[in-house]
Amino acid sequence: SKYTKDDIIRMVEEEGIDFIRMQFTDIFGQAKNVAITASQIQKAVNNQISIDGSSIEGFTRIHESDQYLYPDLDTFTVLSWYEQQGKVARLLCDVCNPDGTPFIGDPRGALKRVLRRAADLGYTFNVGPECEFFLFEMDKDGKPTTKTNDEAGYFDLGPIDHGDHTRREICLALEALGFEIEASHHECAAGQHEIDFKYAEALNAADSIITFKQTVKKIAYANGLHATFMPKPIYGTAGSGMHINMSLFKDGKNVFFDPDGDRQLSKDAYHFIAGLLTHVKGMTAITNPLVNSYKRLVPGYEAPCYSAWSASNRSALIRIPAARGQSTRVELRNPDPSCNPYLALAVCLAAGLDGMERKLTPPEEITENIFEMNADERAACGIEDLPDSLEHALDALEADPLMAEVLGPHIYTQYIAGKEKEWEEYCTRVSSWEIAKYMVLY
Ligand code: ADP
Ligand code: GLU
Ligand code: MG
Ligand code: MG
Repeated sequence: SKYTKDDIIRMVEEEGIDFIRMQFTDIFGQAKNVAITASQIQKAVNNQISIDGSSIEGFTRIHESDQYLYPDLDTFTVLSWYEQQGKVARLLCDVCNPDGTPFIGDPRGALKRVLRRAADLGYTFNVGPECEFFLFEMDKDGKPTTKTNDEAGYFDLGPIDHGDHTRREICLALEALGFEIEASHHECAAGQHEIDFKYAEALNAADSIITFKQTVKKIAYANGLHATFMPKPIYGTAGSGMHINMSLFKDGKNVFFDPDGDRQLSKDAYHFIAGLLTHVKGMTAITNPLVNSYKRLVPGYEAPCYSAWSASNRSALIRIPAARGQSTRVELRNPDPSCNPYLALAVCLAAGLDGMERKLTPPEEITENIFEMNADERAACGIEDLPDSLEHALDALEADPLMAEVLGPHIYTQYIAGKEKEWEEYCTRVSSWEIAKYMVLY
């Protein structure tokens, strides 16, 4: 690894760090932290910072609440956007039981378990996420409104693109945190943006997604704007996705690339695609975790609603971008940025590996626009519907034993219980749509 305990202690001193945020993530993907002052850094690097797990969503029950944070020393980063009062650094942590064993309910641990299986087979799992988000104006009380800060569209330039300047500041803040930004642009919808950073090994990529979201929100707020990763904030316009680009490397080589293969893709690439297609319904409650997620997965907005793959078609669930060689990758298009990135990458990898292990073959590629096919035409091509609601996604999750295995009994049970509650809450609420539709008429 990159840093030792002594390196961390030295950097805290040399950089004049006052606070260290000890961060971890709850099972629903919310970043959490306890801040310590520099005086406690010895304790921190020796895994002696404890938390009360019973107060964290989906963690432990009250009678077994003590847990310890084991910082991943390589994640030490000075948070350059935090300089008002004291200099701040962060460490991302694994959550452990008092005896030092990994806590089974830690999502970062769940991803590490699957990654270890891949590593045992000689594979490194590389992931490049494409996070989209909206910038909304805030009211005079600092609360987010539903008014986007511009009317611009895909790839527009300033001054039509009012988010230009905030987006640039976000990119610079991310670079200061060590991100390599590959592209940033205005997205299709008014107020919608995308910033892409370079792919990395999956644990690193999941950590980066957490840091990314935090940075985007922080910089937007400093510019008087509210950034949201809610998947579908506005009806009738594009939602925000988080496409996940994936590849497996072995001995430094991309195993999805085969110069002699069909479309220059290897057999393993096809098996991996087939694994994703086989498990995608069960995965959806993880990759698309909100009631609101399913309002994005509707026809017409470049978000998928059917299980199909294609070399180029953006209406398909899985797209194979044109690049080959080391950039050969599979792009899964249904995930959205509200997901827990650790769990999402864990289920993606497990599904792909399952396809490889069982040598599954995907159905034929779909080249037509799937949104223009009718149900019979889709059925004839073996195209299935993705779950159309959180409720149905949870049913599919429960019907796929691989998901239970990957998540482990603790996360699996807590996640389903929490999401069922969310669904029930939603179903009994009276929405503004109902008021508009029924109040006067009846
Ligand atoms: P789109 O055309 O869908 O907008 P982009 O070209 O913007 O896609 O997506 C690029 C993403 O794919 C980046 O995060 C990039 O780093 C990532 N990527 C490139 N090569 C690989 C690879 N071999 N494995 C995983 N991700 C990769
Ligand atoms: N915003 C679209 C979605 O919801 C994706 C647009 C794109 O292809 O970048 O997935
Ligand atoms: Mg995009
Ligand atoms: Mg994409």
